Amino acid sequence: MIDLKSAASGAERILIAGHVRPDGDCVGGCVATGRYLKNIFPDKCIHVYLETVPERFSFLAEEELVSNQVADSSYDLCIVVDSSDSDRLGDAREAFEKAGSTLVVDHHVSNQQYGKENVVVADASSTCEVLYGLMDPEYVDERVAESLYIGIVTDSGGFRYPNTSRKTMEIAGRLMEKGIPFHEDMDRCFYERTYTQTQLLGRTLLASMRVMEGQCIVAAITRRMMEFYGAKTEDIDGIIDQLRIIKGVEVAILLHETGHQEYKVSMRSNKVVDVSKVAAYFGGGGHVRAAGCTMRGSIHDVCNNLTEHIEMQMM
Ligand code: AMP
Ligand code: MN
Ligand code: MN
Repeated sequence: MIDLKSAASGAERILIAGHVRPDGDCVGGCVATGRYLKNIFPDKCIHVYLETVPERFSFLAEEELVSNQVADSSYDLCIVVDSSDSDRLGDAREAFEKAGSTLVVDHHVSNQQYGKENVVVADASSTCEVLYGLMDPEYVDERVAESLYIGIVTDSGGFRYPNTSRKTMEIAGRLMEKGIPFHEDMDRCFYERTYTQTQLLGRTLLASMRVMEGQCIVAAITRRMMEFYGAKTEDIDGIIDQLRIIKGVEVAILLHETGHQEYKVSMRSNKVVDVSKVAAYFGGGGHVRAAGCTMRGSIHDVCNNLTEHIEMQMM
């Protein structure tokens, strides 16, 4: 399997990019890759492109490495982190398509292997776990380690999701040895909440609806709600987990209104339903227990269409 050092050795200009609306795994993975390659090749031109980084993870994104703009399209190598298809690259897509060489590192079952080189490990907890396997530990300094740790912790739900394996824990242990503030990282990723986030959470939970005899729960966040609380998209993170852990719930669905009668759908399941199949049917993707897609129509219609497909799997 190709490693990051050999992938980068022949390239002078390197772009590292994640997916639109980057999460912890995406931010952590991009920053770790950039910092790691800088440690090995200090003289190469290495850029990390990330769309707006959520406040929670912004401390990782150092200014000299990370930008929310793609400088141009003349890269020898583009490394893509945590993005299952090239549609999710946003503004980095053109640079990706024009790059001399491309490497895709990911852990989505639905990954379309769209790079020249692809390292896709579907049973890995996170892309950061996969990235660690492509690194020489000698060049993993504290900053690389903390970035990878944040990615692993966020995508494994703090080592709670079934995608967590012995290997996940072993890698996390090795990263801890680099001296990272793992207790603070855990707080930052899961427990800290702004007042706005707390209000939006409360309001969303109050207005949730149970269907399929309580086995499925649906909640919607409208643009009006977002405006009322002065909330940003990233303030929605974590709300779906509060729905998923309700006793008796198999599938949690969160709809986020992104346009007129247009919703970004997030789904989580606990034991039975493969939500990636449901999401894929509606043009999205993801993992067995966490997936998403975009759907159009009224909340009522979107909800009915989704639950119809969920019910088919529960029969
Ligand atoms: P989210 O609910 O946004 O946290 O997404 C859960 C999982 O589903 C993530 O791993 C995403 O990569 C994947 N996902 C979400 N939305 C889409 C989409 N529109 N297309 C493909 N995959 C998606
Ligand atoms: Mn991601
Ligand atoms: Mn991921």
